Amino acid sequence: MGWDFSTEPEFQEKLDWIDEFVREEVEPLDLLFSGKAFHPLEGTLRTIVDPLKQQVRDRGLWACHLGPELGGQGYGQVKLSLMNEILGRSQWAPIVFGTQAPDTGNAEIIAHYGTDEQKARYLQPLLNGEIFSCYSMTEPQGGSDPALFGTTARRDGEDWVINGWKFFSSNARTAAFLIVMAITDSETDVYRGMSMFLVPTDTPGVEIVRNIGLMGEDRTEEGMHALIHYNDVRVPTESLLGGEGQAFVIAQTRLGGGRVHHAMRTVGMAQRALDMLCERAVSRKTRDGVLADKQSVRDYVADSYIELTQFRLFVLYVAWHIDQTGDYRAVRHDIAAIKVLTPQVLHNVAQRAIQVHGALGVSNEMPLGGLWMVAPIMGLVDGPTEVHRTTVGRQILKRYQPVEGLWPSQHLPTRLAAAKKKYAAFAEAFENEVGNW
Ligand SMILES: Cc1cc2nc3c(=O)[nH]c(=O)nc-3n(C[C@H](O)[C@H](O)[C@H](O)COP(=O)(O)OP(=O)(O)OC[C@H]3O[C@@H](n4cnc5c(N)ncnc54)[C@H](O)[C@@H]3O)c2cc1C
Repeated sequence: MGWDFSTEPEFQEKLDWIDEFVREEVEPLDLLFSGKAFHPLEGTLRTIVDPLKQQVRDRGLWACHLGPELGGQGYGQVKLSLMNEILGRSQWAPIVFGTQAPDTGNAEIIAHYGTDEQKARYLQPLLNGEIFSCYSMTEPQGGSDPALFGTTARRDGEDWVINGWKFFSSNARTAAFLIVMAITDSETDVYRGMSMFLVPTDTPGVEIVRNIGLMGEDRTEEGMHALIHYNDVRVPTESLLGGEGQAFVIAQTRLGGGRVHHAMRTVGMAQRALDMLCERAVSRKTRDGVLADKQSVRDYVADSYIELTQFRLFVLYVAWHIDQTGDYRAVRHDIAAIKVLTPQVLHNVAQRAIQVHGALGVSNEMPLGGLWMVAPIMGLVDGPTEVHRTTVGRQILKRYQPVEGLWPSQHLPTRLAAAKKKYAAFAEAFENEVGNW
């Protein structure tokens, strides 16, 4: 496979347009309507946002995450990543471009596994940006480890009846439907015993117990992450997404692309923090110059740039690999690796930017605190860092075989003996040579 770091000029033009459009038209919404992004559009907000969405559509940039076979643009992961890098700067931008998580992943699995009827009922309005969706998987006692899940769905005539608890189901309060993962066969293992259901949020028995907010948000029950009790929730058999027992496979489909998009949006956030760091460094005067003259501040800039560039290239490499092969499983360890890097790089860059801004950095007059707080969130969403780090280690180790005998394959005396044996005919030439490489 060849290597190519260039962007086609036609697509670069689109990226330039997106960049300017997001800065000029969309970022002001983050200031004026913060926290409203995942609410269905009403009144004045619809009057403002609908024309912005139309401009995106007119440019062929709406809902670019789906491939052409699924009714999308088919730009592929590299182009999508470059777009997400820009969209990550703003809370509203993914909404205006129809690429917000978790709806992107949810749309993807309905497109892959849904029946025609399910696509018409759920996918189409989701792609039109008219409704929101929720992915309800994590449980309060079991985190995101399906082996510890307790939510069940039992067959009752033509229906399924769902019972159990789900935790941190994002956007449940504004979503039109929930995708619920439940045990349908407790006799078999989690890989075959769980199924996914499409459940309208207003189905009797869907009880949102609390809408949990994130740290820093006020405690007014206005949070976006629901603790849900599914209490005898009865849905018809047509609510099953994919086949019975397919939940695990569906969940894997959902997360591959999603993690790449999250990572690239985070690149955009970290770049924003680095831009602020640099601007402050060249602006803030000290008694003998500006902050940028200080070695430690230059080190902050250098370390941030180096970490961010490595991370960005790694994410783009993973995206490129997926485009080349279409095989998410082949780059599983690299997707896990960028998932590990995502909180780390954002934390490091945002932390340095805060430090260089002094008191202003920790104040609520800069967006730095908000960016910094995304870092620990990124270390948890779609599974904790430790789990992904384990995946990386496990997958990499699969490439290696144990040596026979006591010494490692690179053990120098053993290799030297083998080398001497191989070139015994020329012994006088290397008699006094001892290599250590
Ligand atoms: C902002 C946000 C939005 C979310 N949205 C959704 C959503 O829409 N739908 C949904 O279903 N879930 C959602 N989640 C839940 C998310 O997937 C879980 O928080 C995550 O999988 C971890 O589960 P937990 O919080 O129960 O932590 P736990 O599973 O209790 O883990 C806590 C800590 O224990 C350690 N740990 C756990 N397991 C292991 C392991 N195997 N190896 C080593 N260490 C381990 C890690 O340090 C980990 O951080 C969201 C979470 C956040 C923060």
